[in-house]
Amino acid sequence: MSKRIVIALGGNALGNSLKEQFAAAQNTAKAIADLIEEGHQVVVAHGNGPQVGMINLAMSELTAKDPDKYPPTPLSVCGAMSQGYIGYDLQNTLRTELLDRGIRKEISTLITQVAVDPEDPAFKQPTKPIGRFMTHEEALKFQEEGYAIMEDAGRGWRRVVASPKPREIIEIGSIGAMVSSGHIVIACGGGGIPVIHQGNRLKGIPAVIDKDFASCRLAQDLDADYLIILTAVEKVAINFGKPDQQWLSQLTTAEARKLIGEGHFAPGSMLPKVEAAVEFASSKPGRRALITLLEKAKEGIAGRTGTVVCD
Ligand code: ADP
Ligand code: MG
Repeated sequence: MSKRIVIALGGNALGNSLKEQFAAAQNTAKAIADLIEEGHQVVVAHGNGPQVGMINLAMSELTAKDPDKYPPTPLSVCGAMSQGYIGYDLQNTLRTELLDRGIRKEISTLITQVAVDPEDPAFKQPTKPIGRFMTHEEALKFQEEGYAIMEDAGRGWRRVVASPKPREIIEIGSIGAMVSSGHIVIACGGGGIPVIHQGNRLKGIPAVIDKDFASCRLAQDLDADYLIILTAVEKVAINFGKPDQQWLSQLTTAEARKLIGEGHFAPGSMLPKVEAAVEFASSKPGRRALITLLEKAKEGIAGRTGTVVCD
């Protein structure tokens, strides 16, 4: 049975460098093509941590060299660049993989903006470290210029930005129209470019939207049947990394909420995935979320592996 599926790709789907990304994308294209080959309608969202980090670093090096010629590049612009660069690799590797299987499909990447609430409590407590590591002195100078800074796990000081919740996908109408026409769309890269409404203008803001939450918003807006979060583990575990670790195959939203409350899922990695899965699965009867390994997408949707969250 054909399903409408939103896939959220994690860091392992795209690698950490330019060279790694193309190779990783070829592998990722196989997993996506497996689902398309089975007749499913697929929309692809993805993370952009290493990519936007690289772009931001490159642009800030330019600024350091000649600030008059190269004024600072806003994080929102870096995010847009990363969507283009990642989408370029994904759409081309997927195109080839499908043609190799005798499947002809229109595939395109859509630069996606996601509106956030300027009053989101996340702005009071920035949590996402971005950009290069700095000494404490450098960081303090940076702070004087109006940036928030944070010590990052003993490795040095970094700029830190807020991670507000996605409210509205600005280009949702275009994404929906393409999906309904049978096209494959890559959208909401890096969680989308965070923007706020200012009258008729959209203002890009320095923040990072979690790609798992953005994918959840996208899946709800597209009335998808499935949200599939593809990551570096085959299943979700309780007591993760401890001797009594236990892999989970199926969770009701109520069970998942209870485990979230008990602190089984690491903030910033597994927690947003389980939260996104719960939100999607409880948003309408019949909706399901699956968290599994990139290479296991096909097996997962057939019910043979992964962690399924349903109401
Ligand atoms: P992605 O780039 O796909 O978003 P993350 O690294 O952010 O991946 O999150 C996935 C990681 O979360 C897994 O590789 C695993 O190391 C970690 N993790 C933390 N808690 C759990 C848990 N309870 N069960 C499974 N994995 C967990
Ligand atoms: Mg992650």
